[in-house]
Amino acid sequence: MPLDLNYAPGAADEADDDFIDDDDLPGPSSRGKKGGASGGKGGGKGKDPGRHAWEAEYKKSWDIVQEDEKGSLESAVESLLARGRRKRALMADTPLRRSIIRHMFIILDLSDSMMDKDYRPTRFEVILGYLRTYVVEWFDQNPLGQIGIIIMRDRLSEVLVPMGGNPQEILSVLSDKRKLEPSGEPSLQNGLMMAKGGMSHLPTTSSLETLIIFSSISTADPDGPVTIHNVLQEMVDSKIRTNILSLSGEIKICKQISERTNGKFGVALDQDHLKDLMWDTIPPPATTIAPPITVGVRNALAGAGAGQRGGAVGKAPAGDLMVMGFPIQLPLGGETLCACHGLLKKGGYLCPRCGSKLCDVPTDCEVCGLMVVSSPHLARSFWFLFPVANYRVLAIEDVMDSINGNGDTCFGCDVEFPDVSTIEEGVAQVEDGVSPTGRYRCAKCRNDFCADCDLYIHDTLHTCPGCSQ
Ligand SMILES: [Zn+2]
Ligand SMILES: [Zn+2]
Ligand SMILES: [Zn+2]
Ligand SMILES: [Zn+2]
Repeated sequence: MPLDLNYAPGAADEADDDFIDDDDLPGPSSRGKKGGASGGKGGGKGKDPGRHAWEAEYKKSWDIVQEDEKGSLESAVESLLARGRRKRALMADTPLRRSIIRHMFIILDLSDSMMDKDYRPTRFEVILGYLRTYVVEWFDQNPLGQIGIIIMRDRLSEVLVPMGGNPQEILSVLSDKRKLEPSGEPSLQNGLMMAKGGMSHLPTTSSLETLIIFSSISTADPDGPVTIHNVLQEMVDSKIRTNILSLSGEIKICKQISERTNGKFGVALDQDHLKDLMWDTIPPPATTIAPPITVGVRNALAGAGAGQRGGAVGKAPAGDLMVMGFPIQLPLGGETLCACHGLLKKGGYLCPRCGSKLCDVPTDCEVCGLMVVSSPHLARSFWFLFPVANYRVLAIEDVMDSINGNGDTCFGCDVEFPDVSTIEEGVAQVEDGVSPTGRYRCAKCRNDFCADCDLYIHDTLHTCPGCSQ
């Protein structure tokens, strides 16, 4: 009996032929010797047969990367980069109407099943780790959004973090594992009711959403006249979009809930897939696809405030106005009582309508309900409305034609482009969105940028340095 059987539970009764390749892998072998048990069940689980789901996270990157004729890895690395670029290019081009003011409750299943070890080390640890990066990324892309967290355990639900716009507050709660100990069974009904109650005061102009991370395969709901189907109907009526991510399997009620509320339902196959599914919910949800001819400033602005949810495809309304307030920031002087927590705190903001003190923006004023935002937050959400068009990938001929006009360095970082005459014909094609000349040109200002600047401009800066001069 090999000592490392504990390392891969459940491997003993599977067919050995599936795992012969594993000898090539570095690190401890997870299998017994060849020619041991006979006639096992063939096939592995997940998308990569013969390997455990948790192993798939460590892809054989050394097999993917191939050296070119000169023994250099440069081209291989570039083609890996290209895939990321392609993915982004696919997302960018269709004009969409998005809800940028979002209120979301993350409903986290903290039942016993979260301690399952099919994700390493446990589902609980994996989810907590992902949630921490998820929250930061979410607020980065949705500066006007607010997140709250609800947990379900012991058939009860409880608000862990009330709805708010401060990622630090959420992160500090998520890092305290003692308060998050999983136990008992989850009650989906209680979780949904709590989320609905927590959003009942919110205006319909914002996108109301929940993201349920469900680990159990059942829900233990309270006895009584109100069933989960009643709650579901209420969710539909109040237009709360519900995305559900299952860690175990497809559960009928979960699928029903997400379908009827226009959300997404996904079953995670492994850790990577789980992350993909979670990250899919970060960009603001599309509400309608706007006709390309009429996408002017006015319509783009209307897209920001319109409360058209529920996938209503049709004629876009001319525009909706919504009430927002810009607060007065208080100096860090003495401590005063805040309206949101009822605590003595330094600094903060004054609501422009009622004058009560709030700790953080963006938020909804605790007293008068006014949506309080700061102008930088508003400005940061504009990049979804006016994205930088993709740069044109330049082939060798393009550079030859215009080489004198544009100089030899990147307009962004001043790095020198490779000399065109030295590039071999073999690698001269534009492949997977990667330029052989390392140049990417803005169609408007006709400046050339390097690959790094191109990524930085489109992913982080959201404005073209050439055009904005
Ligand atoms: Zn406060
Ligand atoms: Zn107020
Ligand atoms: Zn550059
Ligand atoms: Zn430009």
